[in-house]
Amino acid sequence: MVAQGFTVDLNKPLVFQSIIISLSNAIHYASTVWGRFTGLCVYDVTHYYLHHEQPSREVTKNLKKYHLNHHFRIQNKGFSITSSLWDKVFGTLPQTRSAAKSR
Ligand SMILES: [Zn+2]
Repeated sequence: MVAQGFTVDLNKPLVFQSIIISLSNAIHYASTVWGRFTGLCVYDVTHYYLHHEQPSREVTKNLKKYHLNHHFRIQNKGFSITSSLWDKVFGTLPQTRSAAKSR
């Protein structure tokens, strides 16, 4: 576009915009990959710990009991490893032994 001796290159804003969009996509992609990797590591380490260690704290003792329940008592419930939140959300929370006995 030429207006009285002044030239404007209409492609420059598009190039700048493309760079910004590409950069933000790269950052978004990298953070998504990093978040998934970190979540997988936390899941895996917690799973290994629950199977192979003897927890000393009440929280981890309950997690181990909850998870071993999934493997050895009710296999189609209690899928969560690090908390029971998602089992509550998806309705896969296993019954407690006392609730099962009272049926
Ligand atoms: Zn397991």
